[in-house]
Amino acid sequence: MKRQRILVVEDEPDIAEILRYNLERAGFAVEMAGQGDTALEAIRRQPPDLLLLDLMLPGLDGLELTRILRRDAATAQLPVVMLTARGEEIDRIVGLELGADDYIPKPFSPREVVLRVRAVLRRRQAPEAAADVLEIGTLRLDAAAHRLAVRGKEVALTATEFRLLHTLMERAGRIQTRSRLLSDVWGYAEEVDSRTVDTHVRRLRRKLGAEADRIETVIGVGYRLKP
Ligand code: CA
Repeated sequence: MKRQRILVVEDEPDIAEILRYNLERAGFAVEMAGQGDTALEAIRRQPPDLLLLDLMLPGLDGLELTRILRRDAATAQLPVVMLTARGEEIDRIVGLELGADDYIPKPFSPREVVLRVRAVLRRRQAPEAAADVLEIGTLRLDAAAHRLAVRGKEVALTATEFRLLHTLMERAGRIQTRSRLLSDVWGYAEEVDSRTVDTHVRRLRRKLGAEADRIETVIGVGYRLKP
């Protein structure tokens, strides 16, 4: 099984090292950032499976970073566990209101951190695994099993093609602009070359065979999947 990736954002080196050591020992792949803005860059480059985020950081702090992540569709669902020092009661609540999945007060026991991280990851995965099958025409997309069948025949998709089709099927009937798809499927900002989308749609249509026409081109705008 692929190791889950945790991004630890903590400006105090000693605490950061304790977290890294214990999370790695628990089987996670750990990346580190000492500041909010470097963390944001790392997340946009490649979102981790979970963000372990210190509240008080130099520059962009934990709250502001969470706010930015929640506003962006590409990272709105990213699990966030917040680390807070004692006496940050109000900030703590605000943090949860902003959508942090859990918080851990400092000082913490490393064991507790590992348990909380595991619990949040489990919670995040459970509902998806239950029922997330989309069926349109003869397309059947099973999100939990990561499988697509066309007319009952399995079709292999890359991870990006899968996310693209999943997004189009979830929003069937609604036009999706290229920039929206770039942000939601690729997690890119708008300045990225939008031909990436066209290339992937072309490849996806080829794989859909008899259902290729289901993805309509809306000239000058983007794409729409016919419901
Ligand atoms: Ca700090």
